[in-house]
Amino acid sequence: MVYDVIVVGARCAGASTAMLLSRKGYRVLLVDRATFPSDTLSTHYIHQPAVARLRSWGLLDRLAATGCPPIPTYGLDLGPIALKGCPTPYDGVDVAYAPRRIVLDALLVEAAAAAGATVRTGLSVHGLLQEDGRVVGIRGRAGGTEVVERTRLVVGADGLRSTVASTVNAPIYENRGTFRCAYYTYWSGVPLDGFESFGRDAFGAAAVPTHDGLACITVLFPRSQFKQVRGDVERHYLAALDQTSLGERVRAGTREERWYGTGDLPNRHRHPYGPGWALAGDAGYYQDPITAHGITNAFRDAELLTDAVDRCFGSGTAMDVALAEYHRRRDDSARRMFRLTCDIASEPPPPEILRLVRAMVGNQPATDRYFGMLAGTVDVDDFFADDHIAAIFAAAAGEGQPLEEQVQAG
Ligand SMILES: Cc1cc2nc3c(=O)[nH]c(=O)nc-3n(C[C@H](O)[C@H](O)[C@H](O)COP(=O)(O)OP(=O)(O)OC[C@H]3O[C@@H](n4cnc5c(N)ncnc54)[C@H](O)[C@@H]3O)c2cc1C
Repeated sequence: MVYDVIVVGARCAGASTAMLLSRKGYRVLLVDRATFPSDTLSTHYIHQPAVARLRSWGLLDRLAATGCPPIPTYGLDLGPIALKGCPTPYDGVDVAYAPRRIVLDALLVEAAAAAGATVRTGLSVHGLLQEDGRVVGIRGRAGGTEVVERTRLVVGADGLRSTVASTVNAPIYENRGTFRCAYYTYWSGVPLDGFESFGRDAFGAAAVPTHDGLACITVLFPRSQFKQVRGDVERHYLAALDQTSLGERVRAGTREERWYGTGDLPNRHRHPYGPGWALAGDAGYYQDPITAHGITNAFRDAELLTDAVDRCFGSGTAMDVALAEYHRRRDDSARRMFRLTCDIASEPPPPEILRLVRAMVGNQPATDRYFGMLAGTVDVDDFFADDHIAAIFAAAAGEGQPLEEQVQAG
């Protein structure tokens, strides 16, 4: 059997892509070397636009029914300055979620299977079939048996160290290097006020409520400190949190799991398509998790790539034309958040961001829009438009009306 599409990697990007393509009636094979449910190295914050996608895919109620708490508020504490607010809603969605990946990814795989995709887990892809310069299938291994499957398109949704991307030599561009390393774990008995984030000169930290009443708390250290931190994670992690209001709460709570960590957090894009292949999610695009956009981006790629494949197989658009459009739409949607993420992740955060945050203290409409911009519900360019920034500084200096009054005044 020749599949229309084989998707390699069955988490946020791959399972979503397989589900959407299957719902359109395409014959899809979804493979992963992992089995599900299973965990992966990632924390969990899903911004409002991605929650809206889960809702439009009919999966939000199922996620909520797993006991994952909704997160309406967003906090940013920079030491002397702190902001609290509610990100501008997106298409009526005014909460975020932070599901355990063991729950979210299994739910997506089940949805792909329910949509008609053939799902084969425990299958590790080690090569691609190529004929006349075109990818036409995968070679893999499952339980000691060699597997060969043929297709019209292989989608590499196989993460940061994508076998598909490296096999086809997908070119890397916008390579900004690595700014941070991250360590996180799970705590019981640590009360949180929604999503809490902290920025200090030498680290950033984030805390989210997740399943089972646990708080998932991450510290992002400068990449230059990776060896040092790895040598004694607990000491460095707690010393960092002691500089925030989380320190006391965490010390009164209980650590429920092991330490999870990585120093492999590059910032770069890969050219996401070629003859017979395409990339989705982390395989094609990676940015520091400090702005927590990886899952949101993976869902976006799933929709954009499904559109492109459908125009090609459904309406006869040439594959390279459809996939070039996918590439353009992905990069247009990602460009500003990518640069902002690199700015925020760089050490130390640029002074203009500190000045801006200081100017928003006491200005709730601007604060909510700022958090909306970080969540992707307010366009980054609109937020940073000269007149919008000038209005924030004018309001801070007492020279203008707060933004809300300006908006109401028309
Ligand atoms: C510390 C940390 C914290 C993060 N926190 C957040 C956050 O709060 N919010 C957020 O949105 N994002 C976060 N991210 C980013 C997020 O985890 C990723 O962007 C997201 O997981 C990308 O999904 P994906 O489906 O592209 O890839 P992955 O989740 O990496 O899935 C890839 C899949 O491919 C499979 N695979 C790989 N190679 C093969 C092969 N050869 N054969 C078969 N299968 C294969 C793997 O088994 C895996 O299941 C974080 C990342 C890190 C490292």
